[in-house]
Amino acid sequence: METLYADFKNEPYLDFSKDENRNKIQSALKKVKGSLGKNYSPIIDGKIVASADSGDGSAQSVNPAEPDMVIGSITEASENITEQAIQSCKKNFISWGTTPVSERAQILKKAAEIFRKQKSELSALEILECGKQWREADGDMCEAIDFLEFYAQEAVHLFELKQMGSEPGLRNTLYFKPRGVAAVISPWNFPIAIPVGMIAAALAVGNTVVFKPAEVATACGYKIYEILKEAGLPDGVLNFLPGQGRLIGNYLVRRPDVSLIAFTGSKEVGLAIIEEAGKTPKGQNHVKKVIAEMGGKNAIIIDSDADLDSAITGVLQAAFGYQGQKCSACSRVIVLDSVYDKFTSRLKEAALSIKVSPAEDPGSAVGAVINKGAFEKISQYIEIGKKEAQVLVQCEIPQGTTGYFVKPTIFCNVQPNHRIAQEEIFGPVLAVLKVKDFDEALKIANGTQFALTGALYSRSPKNIERAYKEFEVGNLYINTKCTGAMVARQPFGGFKLSGVGTKAGMKEYLLQFVEMKTVSENTQRQGFAPETI
Ligand code: NAD
Repeated sequence: METLYADFKNEPYLDFSKDENRNKIQSALKKVKGSLGKNYSPIIDGKIVASADSGDGSAQSVNPAEPDMVIGSITEASENITEQAIQSCKKNFISWGTTPVSERAQILKKAAEIFRKQKSELSALEILECGKQWREADGDMCEAIDFLEFYAQEAVHLFELKQMGSEPGLRNTLYFKPRGVAAVISPWNFPIAIPVGMIAAALAVGNTVVFKPAEVATACGYKIYEILKEAGLPDGVLNFLPGQGRLIGNYLVRRPDVSLIAFTGSKEVGLAIIEEAGKTPKGQNHVKKVIAEMGGKNAIIIDSDADLDSAITGVLQAAFGYQGQKCSACSRVIVLDSVYDKFTSRLKEAALSIKVSPAEDPGSAVGAVINKGAFEKISQYIEIGKKEAQVLVQCEIPQGTTGYFVKPTIFCNVQPNHRIAQEEIFGPVLAVLKVKDFDEALKIANGTQFALTGALYSRSPKNIERAYKEFEVGNLYINTKCTGAMVARQPFGGFKLSGVGTKAGMKEYLLQFVEMKTVSENTQRQGFAPETI
């Protein structure tokens, strides 16, 4: 069997068992803390822009573990500024779209190099702005670097002319061209890797980009802009647009000059974007392309013969890593009856050892959730869970904190139709369900609106084979946790209401950002062309 992308080398993670690497993050945290409080404004054509109708700079991004720590103030873009950003992208599209793909790729590779150099400071910023644990932040950095390198490499291959089957005298060629202005609308939970992936794919194949970061990850978003600029991206090819999704995100989606929307975020917003972008307002001579990666309600099945040691570690890491705020996070464990009691009692003991503390603490296993809204929503779900099922275990949170800490909570005796077993909670809440056999396990695993990630812990070759075929998820993991996909190794993305689009981290992802053109040329010239003067 051919191995795809066998030569691609993923960026190595930092080894935190080494003093020098721990020291790098500690000193980066000090450095970043010393330079907090900057203002983040829209940047169009390389210039900072504000107008009377834009925000007054009073919006803030804060540390979720310590909300008094202001990471930066935000001057939010207005609709008027958003329109300027779109027009700037439109103006710069011809020159960027006709820049040789090798030159575009060089800029992305240079950006990857800068990311490598600034890795520790960027990780520190993520730790402070988005509450990522050290390892999680480092993983996000590595993924961002991988996206830049991978899409740069693959765009060059894509743009090599493709000779198609031909008959004598007729040459058929396939080639690709960029679509136009791309709106990149990103979430906060992988505040650098996800937007970098969408931006790099769009830029690599020649589109210009209006980038709207998530409000709570504005400082991280700005760094992406800054680094790409430093790498040599011409002004106006990427315009930076901090601001509110429901206002300027919505505006971007509606505008006729936007050709493509690359969105990652919740199901609710994603579906609204798909609907809105399906309209063709006056003056729009194209159908908008929408790439929408959305939520999940991911399940791990524990078979009767599962290795419980690795299953318990895998479940806890997948459910509570980054406070359960990953689209790939495990939020349901489906356990075969014969091991249910053993599994739940061991899961409970293991969960009690989880350390909840600010992400800045290198020993933090679970930190604060992203903001007050998330804190309230997750807390409500915990109350719903208490009515629907039974609490198996609830971990303690730091005393006297002002941060948005939610007690990691595991519910047992959950029924498949319970809200906590059906709705994406996006926090450290796990539902455990008991099933009589493997058939029922698969039925329940597949019984939600989503199909993003899933895992099976089993020693049965028959059941493993069934999972390959019958477990309805975009990314399936066998005897390993369901989070942590890597570029080019585990291309990522789901189906059902988890997303529309080709998986990120593989070359086919780029096809969504281009138009294809086939040229058939009769090569049997009829006579001679008159000489041109
Ligand atoms: P969100 O949908 O609230 O916001 C995502 C982005 O959309 C933000 O930039 C936001 O400002 C913008 N937005 C909000 N309303 C908008 C509107 N009406 N029009 C246009 N843009 C709008 O999601 P979030 O809270 O930032 O992220 C968490 C969600 O993202 C979870 O559901 C998670 O599962 C999902 N997610 C999915 C993937 C994936 O690859 N499938 C990856 C990461 C996160």
